Amino acid sequence: MDDDCPFCRIVAGKKDADIVYADETLVAFKDIHPHAPVHVLIVPRKHIRSVNDLTPADGEIVAAMFAKAPEIAQKMGVARSGYRLAVNVERGAGQVIFHLHLHLLGGWR
Ligand code: 5GP
Ligand code: ZN
Repeated sequence: MDDDCPFCRIVAGKKDADIVYADETLVAFKDIHPHAPVHVLIVPRKHIRSVNDLTPADGEIVAAMFAKAPEIAQKMGVARSGYRLAVNVERGAGQVIFHLHLHLLGGWR
């Protein structure tokens, strides 16, 4: 838990978020500034700074992030219509929150 990290604070229940899914590994919540009609962030409970900081020991966490995406997409009503999964890695790619997260975007007409 990094007290300066907004996603650690959400995971710990110290900061409000519109949570759509949670289990022992992940928390998923709506993006506060959505870039699509459905925009959910799939966030591991463990503070991992970026994709560049992943280690082999994080394999199960990464697998869970992808494995749960279809279930979350289903819950948000976009599984059939389609959705995009995206990860920004480092500032040059637009990463502004340095706690690993998968963007789930969908719901376009
Ligand atoms: P990044 O650009 O780092 O890949 O994505 C970070 C995302 O987190 C952005 O889309 C931003 O809108 C979202 N975000 C930043 N702070 C908060 C917050 O406190 N709560 C929620 N729900 N989303 C946040
Ligand atoms: Zn964090």
